[in-house]
Amino acid sequence: MPAERYTVRVSKDYLVFSAGHFISYNGGECERLHGHNWRVAVEVDGPLDENHYVFDFIALKNRTKEITDELDHRMLLPAENPHILVSGDEKRISVHYKKRDWLFPREECVILPVPNTTAELLARWIGQRLLDVLKRQHLFVPEAMRVEVEESFGQSATWHWQR
Ligand SMILES: [Zn+2]
Repeated sequence: MPAERYTVRVSKDYLVFSAGHFISYNGGECERLHGHNWRVAVEVDGPLDENHYVFDFIALKNRTKEITDELDHRMLLPAENPHILVSGDEKRISVHYKKRDWLFPREECVILPVPNTTAELLARWIGQRLLDVLKRQHLFVPEAMRVEVEESFGQSATWHWQR
């Protein structure tokens, strides 16, 4: 490890998405539908480039915001939850849990490849999308990335990734 490290960070007020969700817990309990104004922060570590920065702040903010915008004003649903069953056609998504059923317009849902829409797994999904976009669009792979998703004030989860 080098003795010096640099990190750039973009957050939070700019990177907000308001969405609905509910999670299962304790092996089969299920929350009621509710929403959050999730706030996201991203940090990337790396060496300085020829501009003497790790990565362009504006590009990092914009690429992150494009991802969080996909979640904004949507119902977030898990594709891989063993208790919350999500199915549908091109018009609507139906969700089934024990004796409870929900029906949503498809265009108002995002079905995520996760077992639960926790802050932890939302952070991971955002981070993996961002790594992919930074590599493809900017040929940039950081040494490390951290994505924090804050669900309410003082309550957040962070995904850590290292090359
Ligand atoms: Zn919640």
